[in-house]
Amino acid sequence: MPAPRQHLFHPANAGAYREAVGAAVDHLVAHLAATAGRPSGGVSPREAAQRVAAVDLDRPLGTGPDALAELSRLWLDDAIWFHEPTAAAHLNCPVVIPALAAEVFVSGVNASLDTFDQSAGATFIERHLVDWTTARIGWGPGADGIFTTGGTQSNLQALLLARGQQVAPVDRLRIFASADGHFSVQKAARVLGLGDAAVVPVAVDHARRMDPTALASALADAVASGEVPMAVVATAGTTDFGAIDPLPEVAALARAYGAWFHVDAAYGGGLLVSARRRDRLDGIELSDSVAIDYHKTWFQPVSCSALLVRDGATLGHVTWHAAYLNPKDSAHPNQVDKSLQTTRRFEALKLWMTLRVMGADAIGEHLDAVIDLADAVAAELTAMPEIDVAAAPQLSTIVFRWCPPGLDDDEVGRLNAAVRAELFDSGRALVAATRVDGRSYLKLTLLNPVATVDDVLGVVALVRATGRRLLAGPAETGARDGRVAVLR
Ligand SMILES: *Cc1c(COP(=O)(O)O)cnc(C)c1O
Repeated sequence: MPAPRQHLFHPANAGAYREAVGAAVDHLVAHLAATAGRPSGGVSPREAAQRVAAVDLDRPLGTGPDALAELSRLWLDDAIWFHEPTAAAHLNCPVVIPALAAEVFVSGVNASLDTFDQSAGATFIERHLVDWTTARIGWGPGADGIFTTGGTQSNLQALLLARGQQVAPVDRLRIFASADGHFSVQKAARVLGLGDAAVVPVAVDHARRMDPTALASALADAVASGEVPMAVVATAGTTDFGAIDPLPEVAALARAYGAWFHVDAAYGGGLLVSARRRDRLDGIELSDSVAIDYHKTWFQPVSCSALLVRDGATLGHVTWHAAYLNPKDSAHPNQVDKSLQTTRRFEALKLWMTLRVMGADAIGEHLDAVIDLADAVAAELTAMPEIDVAAAPQLSTIVFRWCPPGLDDDEVGRLNAAVRAELFDSGRALVAATRVDGRSYLKLTLLNPVATVDDVLGVVALVRATGRRLLAGPAETGARDGRVAVLR
């Protein structure tokens, strides 16, 4: 039995470290080759659970190869691969290699970004990226920000800062967001003790953007009934439609009512580096805060995200001084003063290495490619009989459904839901489901810059073929029974 200390990251174990990480990389590369062409193994939750439950965690396997073989059986053989062109369900992106190389340092050095005395230069790498992003937004030198775990945390912190700016009693505070805004706004309202009713949904227009007229009357109604507009949240890229709310109009209304203006650009934030579509974010510089998910449209591994604020002083609402960590008289710059987290991974390094190796333009080109792809696919789908496209794509999602003749609306919804489940089980393609005005749709979320129109039309062809097969039912029961089963 070898000494357990052989597993510590330490100069004496440099050989063991190199061997273990090298073997892990080789193992992953072998999986890439073996699973090419399939976005998933289609494992059922029951089977995945059983395999994992059978592992006795009190009996270590001892050697690397055994642990890797077990990992394949438990997970990798059936993992979801976001680099496959047929993986078109959620906002998970294929990731860029410089960021993966950065991960070696993030976890190996294991810096924690809460204080300078746990991170040294890493603190300034993060700060430089924050400054670079705020300059792209169009803010001046007073701007600041902090890396977070994701859009959910960024939205929460933004609304916490907004609440910090208010003196009105908590039960009168209201947050205005479009009806298509992200549910993390509602969750944040709960966490902040404002309650579910504090979030006022604002109607959207035909293109599913927040309707400024509806916002104006919602704000006026709130004030007339003694409520206090605490924040207005515009979404720059809604999760379903990629809709970008009219930022200048929303900004003007937020300002007129003295409300904090937050832009949830978790999805659309990548447009900051787009050569061809940066103008879609015009007006973002009028906001008080912006949430950006680098782990969506910047092709970074989860998690990599930031909250940016126009006035860095507002981050003081999350500052707390602990004698042992970041005392008030600390001579050091301490990022924990700006963060809801304490111990915090150096996620910023992934974006740093991406910008240093590839450059921002290359990331913007990746995003432009998937938006071009969505436009081209949507044009094809709109011309197809029996395909209903819910709205023209605005970023890289397409909400659609297959509507064979002779089915009512509920039946169409159930058929499409059954097709999606069947495709997941087969492991051949991953599409998402959503509801639009009470009706069930499918959704393609395209984030793969090397996927082609034919790849994506192939997924739609699979949807139709699978639907036809489901409607026909198993051969032995006859067509009518199958149709009844899937539509029930
Ligand atoms: C994904 C998303 C979020 C949530 O971000 P996470 O990184 O998943 O926490 C918030 N808002 C929008 C518009 C999103 O698309």
